[in-house]
This record gives sequence, C-alpha cells and structure tokens, in this order.
Amino acid sequence: MAIKYIPEPFRIKMVETIKMTTEEERKEKIKEAKYNLFNLKGEDVYIDLLTDSGTNAMSSEQWAGIMNGDEAYAGARSYYRLVNTARDIFGYDYIQPVHQGRAAEKVLFPAFLHEGQYAISNMFFDTTRAHVELAGARAIDCVVEEAKDPSRRCKFKGNMDVKHLEEIILEKGPENVGLVVMTVTNNSAGGQPVSLKNIRDTAEVCKKYNIPLNIDAARYAENAFFIKRDEEECRDMTIKEIINKMFSYGDMFTMSAKKDTIVNMGGMIGVKDPVKNEELVIKIKANCISYEGFITYGGLAGRDLEALAIGLEEGLNEDYLRYRIGQVEYLASRLDDAGIVYQAPVGGHGVFVDAKAMFPHIPYYEFPAQVLAIELYKEAGIRTCDIGSYMLGNDPDTGEQLHADFEFTRLAIPRRVYTQAHIDVMADALIAIKERAHEIKRGYKITWEPPILRHFQAHLEPIEE
Ligand SMILES: *Cc1c(COP(=O)(O)O)cnc(C)c1O
Repeated sequence: MAIKYIPEPFRIKMVETIKMTTEEERKEKIKEAKYNLFNLKGEDVYIDLLTDSGTNAMSSEQWAGIMNGDEAYAGARSYYRLVNTARDIFGYDYIQPVHQGRAAEKVLFPAFLHEGQYAISNMFFDTTRAHVELAGARAIDCVVEEAKDPSRRCKFKGNMDVKHLEEIILEKGPENVGLVVMTVTNNSAGGQPVSLKNIRDTAEVCKKYNIPLNIDAARYAENAFFIKRDEEECRDMTIKEIINKMFSYGDMFTMSAKKDTIVNMGGMIGVKDPVKNEELVIKIKANCISYEGFITYGGLAGRDLEALAIGLEEGLNEDYLRYRIGQVEYLASRLDDAGIVYQAPVGGHGVFVDAKAMFPHIPYYEFPAQVLAIELYKEAGIRTCDIGSYMLGNDPDTGEQLHADFEFTRLAIPRRVYTQAHIDVMADALIAIKERAHEIKRGYKITWEPPILRHFQAHLEPIEE
C-alpha cells in the first residue's frame, strides 16, 4: 500500500499552462529529436523531470524580493543580505556569490589542485569531476559499498568509505592529495544522504594528513533533514543547528544554489576561517573578478542575490522539507507496490529507477535506461534522463563503449512544482511500461556523437528486431 502523501505547505497563486499532447504526436516529436530527450523542445514536455536544478518554483516572498533587489555594481544591499544570511546558517565568515555551482568549482579548485595531484570524494558530480581534471588533477570516488546495490535498503548510502579513504591517501601519498570533497547529498549515488558521523570521521582523516575538506553543498538542507530523521544524536536539533554542525567539520564549501536554495540561478563559495586562509581568499577574489564579475555580485543580478538570500531561509523550513522528501517517498512507495526496482531507500531529489531490472534482456550497449526514458516520454510526456552506459560514454583510449555499474533512469523532482496528481501520472506510466516491458525487445544505437559529454547531443535510432 502506498504511503500517505504529505500535503503541500503552500497554496498556488500563479499557474503556468502546460501543453497536452497525444501519444502519436509524442512518437513523432521524439523521432524528430533523434531519440535524445535533450533535443526535445521544453514546450512538448508535459512533466519535466530532466533535472531538479534551477527548475524550482520561487515563493511570493522571493518574487517580492526580485523587485527589491539592489543593482549597485559594488556593495549592493542585496549582497550584504545574502552574506549575512549565509554566515548565520553555515557559520563560515567568507561568502562569495557566483553564478552557479560549476563557477564555484572553477574559481576555487585551482587554488588546491595541480598536475599530478588527486582529489577524493564520496562521489564526484560530473562538473565537479571536470573541474578537478581541468585543474590538472585526477578525481577518485570513494563511496561505501552498499551504495552500489540498488535493492539494498540501508541508511546513509551516500557516505564516504572512511577506511578506504585513508588507504587511498596512504597509497597516493598525503602530499599528493590536494583536496577531499564531501558531496551532500550524494547526487551521483541517487541523492543518498551522508550522516553527520561520517562527515566528522572524514574530517578527522583529513586533519590527520593535513588535507583540506571541501563540502559540495548543493543539497545541504535535504541532507540535514535525513540526519534529523535517522541519526539518533540529532533528533532534537533544528535543521539549522544540524546544518551548522555539518559545516563545522569542513574548511570551505562550493554550492550550486539551484537546488536546495530554491532559486533558478545562483551559487556560492564559503571559507570558514578567512583570517587563517588569507591567501586563499585573495585567490578566490582574483578568480571571481576575472571569471564571474566583481566580488559583491559574482555574476548575478542584485535581484538574484535577494531571491537567493530569501531561498536560503525558506529551504530550512521543516514543514517544507517533510513535504519535499515525502513527495519522493510517496512515488517510491507506489513503485514498491508494483515491484519496480530503484535505488532504495529513495534519496532526496528524485527516484533513480533500475532500468536493468525492468529490461533484463537489453544489454548495456543498447542503453536500457535510455529505452525507459524514451518510453516514459511516449507513454505520458514525461522527460527524464539516462544515468547509465549511455551517459558514461566511450573509453577515451580504446574508443569502446564503457559498461556502467548502474543503468538508472532518473526522475528528478523540481521543488514546489508538481502536485500529487502529477506524481500519480509518473507512477502510472512506469507501471504501464513495466507491464509491456517484455514486448520491447531491442534498444538503441548511436548514429552520431560528439567526442565528449555525448549524451547531451548524440543522435540515436531504434535497433530493428
Ligand atoms: C548541480 C551540482 C553541481 C554543479 O552545479 P551547477 O549549478 O549545475 O553548475 C555540483 N555538485 C553537485 C553535487 C550538484 O548537484
């Protein structure tokens, strides 16, 4: 039996019409898009679950803030509001706004990483990995084993494997590890949370070998909610107290504010102790001015800074977080009833459906997770994406298709956007596809691909039976 849906702690004041299409039309559209969902026009999508990044609905308070934004080039009131709010929540004295998460990485990472070095994370998000590599270093994932088994239900599947972390540090030599990155929640493992104890243990290893700890903080609030719910020592703490504690173990953070801060664009860098790290702050400011814009706006308009400051506060509201996580859990419980396998228990920002389990007869090189994504669009106009072999791409040395650990189709849920009826459409579509899954005999082949990050642009074609 599906669990109870947690009612929305808000009401709707403005609506956006979405186009209804027929199955025949959708079959035509996806063919025209060369079976790549990134090539679809947004307006041809009924429910858009491509990402939860920047697709959030802002509140009436945030829209009012947009009108109040101070557009001064230097020293805007909106900048000070953001800095004061972020300092209070995270406990870091230096706060640098930037235009999004990857900009934070671009500005910060070259200060720590260079040729021949390593960075180690519970799991790197793809842009984070790219910026480690652009700085000349190599990125190593170090997540706990249980994350790799989608049907294995346990708490904090996003954790760092702390024992293995220490082994890697000793193997590579502590002087060659420039940075440890703790990603909360662990996006690539399915939005799985990291426990407070795990952050503390990771910080201890970092301290022992004198390696700085950066928090990749896109989903700090969802992570704090899981900690409050599932970690004994934090049960009676507020979300804000938990976040403060989580960040107390890090030295700095990079953040995409397009997630838990509930805006459409924005990011931040934080440095806990700018007095002790004076050189670092000088480098951040220099890079920010070169790449993003002056220190007090960092590539954002004053109105964006204002909306960001308000979103920081709203994102901590426990009624909101209970509804937010509850919505994802409700969808997952409907899939449980139907025997559909996903990365379980569900994490914070979506459901990662195991397409390998749904199409056991379709091999990785025919992209089962892309098959499911295309079927979801044809079935109900739902746009999702492949997190599997199709996304992983080819071996850069041999050019051969890589075999991913997972074949996930990700349903990422935007914040405050869709209703229970929409969630039911998602569940019903997945159930309908599961019932006819055996009739879909073959997957897709690639007819054209660019050399890197191919999944965004590639052309595909169904393989004839
Ligand atoms: C989204 C994300 C990023 C990159 O942020 P953008 O705002 O998309 O540039 C980095 N790390 C994690 C964990 C993310 O989820």
